[in-house]
Amino acid sequence: MKRVLILGSTGSIGTQALEIIADREDLEPVGLAVGRDWQTAAVQAKGFEIKTIAVADRAAAEEAKSGFDGAVLSGEQGVIELIGVTRPDIVLNGIVGAAGLGPTIAALSQGIDVALANKESLVIGGELVTELAAATGAKLLPVDSEHSALFQLLENEDHAALDRIVLTASGGPFRGRTDLDGITVEQALDHPTWAMGGRITIDSATLMNKGFEMIEAAHLFGLPYEQIDVVVHPQSIVHSLIDLKDGATLAHLGYPDMRVPIAYALTWPERSDVPVERLDLARVGRLDFEEPDPGTFRCLALAREAGRSGGIAPCVLNAADEVAVAAFLEGMITFKDISTVIERTIEDVGSGPAKGFDELFAIDEASRERASEIISGLT
Ligand code: MG
Repeated sequence: MKRVLILGSTGSIGTQALEIIADREDLEPVGLAVGRDWQTAAVQAKGFEIKTIAVADRAAAEEAKSGFDGAVLSGEQGVIELIGVTRPDIVLNGIVGAAGLGPTIAALSQGIDVALANKESLVIGGELVTELAAATGAKLLPVDSEHSALFQLLENEDHAALDRIVLTASGGPFRGRTDLDGITVEQALDHPTWAMGGRITIDSATLMNKGFEMIEAAHLFGLPYEQIDVVVHPQSIVHSLIDLKDGATLAHLGYPDMRVPIAYALTWPERSDVPVERLDLARVGRLDFEEPDPGTFRCLALAREAGRSGGIAPCVLNAADEVAVAAFLEGMITFKDISTVIERTIEDVGSGPAKGFDELFAIDEASRERASEIISGLT
């Protein structure tokens, strides 16, 4: 029996994870953490007989204390405490944004494996997070579909036999466009192949999501950026590829369905029965590929540069992106301004090594403030 703690249980990853767990005898959810929506978490907890939940938003946690029939841990600290209280075998981190880093650190510090859907953990703290995992022997199991694909493809390959990895990108709703003027929030939220949360959908439209994924991959697989490429593939059937020294290219295919990578991370090293639609290539008919356009989609270029610089640069990149995307969703800046805000924030905050997690949290905050000031200047 594997005991699973789910952080972000009401989000798209969390709800699909619970669906998988409900079908399996060997997985047991032992705790749930949510941002604000304690009512949904309470329903989930009741269904799985879970006694303890954590609610990151303190006001919502106060409400939950009178409404939930069990223990409620409060605040971001409460989410971290939940790891110590429930002592799971694996933490599924499906928290969105920088808030996911603290719980990843807490779990790895205690030697607990992390099924990682929170890409910010590796984007912001990649160097320190992978060092920590190596030091405690805890495993990082990627849940992001591309990284899960790469993890599976690389599992039986010698690193020395690898030429490069290729991440596929759907290209988002604005694929093929050479200018990004006049894009509305509604258009940006309309993702062609994956149904996801608000921020990641905008990040997919700007290609920042793919930029983050390059950084994630560099840390997960210990590769230099010269060995990490991106190809646009609008059907999202090929989830990633690896090129080997002998000329062979291996690919991971399937219909876009997050239950596959979630199940793989939760049941690794075993494979489980997952009731997803089986791939029918004849029905798919054709698979298209094209070069990404980092000249138009500036976020992709900014992410590669930040990844190459390393240290605090990816942390600044992420913080500026979170603030800029929120401002776009609120109608304060244009779609095109998102990359402008990020670029200027990186210029202003500067770069340097990341000495510790506390420094990263301080840089994260300073970058958010700077990004907000830049946004005020634009509006
Ligand atoms: Mg992905």
